[in-house]
Amino acid sequence: MENILVTGGAGYIGSHTVKALAESDEFSPVVFDSLVTGHREAVPESVPFVKGDIHDGDFVAETLEKYHIAGVIHFAAFSLVGESMTNPLKYYNNNVEGTLHLLEGMKQAGVDKIVFSSTAAVYGEPEKTPIMEDFPHNPTNVYGRTKLVIENMMRDCTNAYGLQYAALRYFNAAGAAEGGYIGEDHNPETHLIPLILKTAQGVRDHISIYGTDYPTPDGTCIRDYIHVVDLAQAHILAMKYLLQGGESNYFNLGSEKGFSVREMIEAAKKVTGKDFKVLEEGRRAGDPAVLIASSQKSKKVLGWKPCHSSIEEIIASAWNWHVNHPYGYSKK
Ligand code: UDP
Repeated sequence: MENILVTGGAGYIGSHTVKALAESDEFSPVVFDSLVTGHREAVPESVPFVKGDIHDGDFVAETLEKYHIAGVIHFAAFSLVGESMTNPLKYYNNNVEGTLHLLEGMKQAGVDKIVFSSTAAVYGEPEKTPIMEDFPHNPTNVYGRTKLVIENMMRDCTNAYGLQYAALRYFNAAGAAEGGYIGEDHNPETHLIPLILKTAQGVRDHISIYGTDYPTPDGTCIRDYIHVVDLAQAHILAMKYLLQGGESNYFNLGSEKGFSVREMIEAAKKVTGKDFKVLEEGRRAGDPAVLIASSQKSKKVLGWKPCHSSIEEIIASAWNWHVNHPYGYSKK
């Protein structure tokens, strides 16, 4: 068993990856989380939990040594696109500077493998789809820029110190693990699927469609939704890849299928059996019309196979979480 430090392991994708690591035969997770946005309840009592901030490189190094960590999976970051535009320094401080200290701590402790939570936002508005890893990087928001700076920072560390990293560029993470115990709980919530489902259960009054004049068949934005359980599996495969001597690399993670906002709303009505109010509004700033991944590289190099990413399974699993936790982790 190799011990893996999961920064941000109390967050949405982090907690699903912790669950997958704990259930694997090869890895044991140790969670490192400041709980600024994470939820303590998202991590089982049986998993070692260290409350800490990645800005404290010495404490990171101490933790890596204490738990004999073989590699780091790094989720800890702020991730609200809108907030990143109005408060960019908060994002550069937390995401970029925080990762800088994390990397220093790793260097100090002699840990040289990191799987990094990156984003499709590094591509910005693509010229064509599906998006391949070597497409130009022109993020249209600060959040995406912080992730791109970190990818570049890690590449420099590969050249200088031999750090080995895998940057995983997620498309639209969605869904929840079976059982409905962990799921998506952001404050404020800005993502389409949780907002639709909160509307279906009556916690919200309506769902707004942001823009109906996009150059798509039904005029609404098209996105590539990928189940969080499939994403979790990709992190395990990427860590194995690095531990087996794989070189620093970057990978798209998406289902390779696109669904419009209207299609998602219709699918949610069908899966939940609920009808609800839908309002058509103007575009949200910075939203590209179509984002669809090519995940061929992840499939070929990592052996990744997304198995849970049908729209029905994504929505049904998220619905199960929302029905069990209408107000997220804090209130039952
Ligand atoms: N969206 C929407 N109404 C909402 C939230 C999102 O129409 O209340 C749209 C948004 O414009 C985008 C898609 O749904 O085209 C997915 O948005 P989300 O914020 O979930 O993810 P993003 O693609 O921005 O990472």
